[in-house]
Amino acid sequence: MDKILHQPLGGNEMPRFGGIATMMRLPHIQKTEEKRQLDVGFVGVPLDIGTSLRSGTRFGPREIRAQSVMIRPYNMATGAAPFDSLNVADIGDVPINTFNMAEAIRIIEDAYDEILELGIIPLTLGGDHTITLPILRAIKKKHGKVGLVHIDAHADVNDHMFGEKIAHGTTFRRAVEEDLLDCDRVVQIGLRAQGYTAEDFNWSRKQGFRVVQAEECWHKSLAPLMAEVREKVGGGPVYLSFDIDGIDPAWAPGTGTPEIGGLTTIQAMEIIRGCQGLQLVGGDLVEVSPPYDTTGNTSLLGANLLYEMLCVLPGVTHK
Ligand code: MN
Ligand code: MN
Repeated sequence: MDKILHQPLGGNEMPRFGGIATMMRLPHIQKTEEKRQLDVGFVGVPLDIGTSLRSGTRFGPREIRAQSVMIRPYNMATGAAPFDSLNVADIGDVPINTFNMAEAIRIIEDAYDEILELGIIPLTLGGDHTITLPILRAIKKKHGKVGLVHIDAHADVNDHMFGEKIAHGTTFRRAVEEDLLDCDRVVQIGLRAQGYTAEDFNWSRKQGFRVVQAEECWHKSLAPLMAEVREKVGGGPVYLSFDIDGIDPAWAPGTGTPEIGGLTTIQAMEIIRGCQGLQLVGGDLVEVSPPYDTTGNTSLLGANLLYEMLCVLPGVTHK
C-alpha cells in the first residue's frame, strides 16, 4: 500500500479565506487508526492559566490556524518539501481543564503519551509556556532525556511564581529537577531585560546550559551561532521550544510578557533553519495571545515558524 501523504488544501480548491480553519488547511484527523498513519501532528493546547501578566493564549491555537491559511507546501528558501515525504495532519486540541492547573497538566501529559505512542512527532500550537513541562515529561518516557533549543526573552527557571511551582515562568526549573533534560545539550537564546538579581541567568549556566543573551544576537546573522548550537545539542534527541516573546514586540506584540530589544523575524527563521540535521523529536510555538495581536501578525509569524519547524524535521525531502 502506498504511503498516505496528506496535502494542504490548495488555494484553487477552496478560497484561502473559506472553509474550516485547520493548521495549513490540512485534514483534521481524529480517529486513532488514522492517527497511526501520521508522521507529524499539529496539536493545539489552549492553556492560559499559567500566565503572569496578560492572558489570552487560550485563543492561540485557533488564531494560529486562522493565520496559517496562506502557507503553501514548498519552502522556496531551503528546498524543503515536507509533504512529499511526511504524512502530516492537524490532530486538534487537547481538552485542558481551564479551572485547574494540576488537572490540565495531567491531561496534557496523557494526551502526549498517546500521541508519542502512535509514533507521531508533535508540533504544538500554544498555549502559554507551562505546557512544555507536561510535553517534556511525556517525551522523556518515549525518548529519554533530551537536548533543548529554547528561544525566549525569559529563562523560565523561576523556583515559583506567587508560590506556585507550576506556571509559565517555572517550566525549565522543573524540567531540570525532574531530570527531563540532558543539561549539557541545552541552549537558551534571546534572554534579556531585567532580573530580580544580577545573577538571574546564571542559574541556567550553572546547570550547563549555553545562554545566549539577546545582546549577543543584535545586528547580525545567527547562522554562525547555529553551527555552535548544533555542536552543543547534537548527538541525541532534541526538543525545540519557541516562545514568541523571544522576538521583538515590534514584530510580535501579541504576547503576554513583551520585552524590548528582541530577535528579528529573520533571526527567528535562521534559528529554526539552523536546526536542520538535529534529531528533533518535537517542537512548540507558545505564548501567542491574540487579544493583544491587533493586526494578526503575531499569529501569522507563529504559524510560519511552525511551518519552518516542520521543514527541519528528520525525514523531510529536499528539492
Ligand atoms: Mn517562556
Ligand atoms: Mn517569555
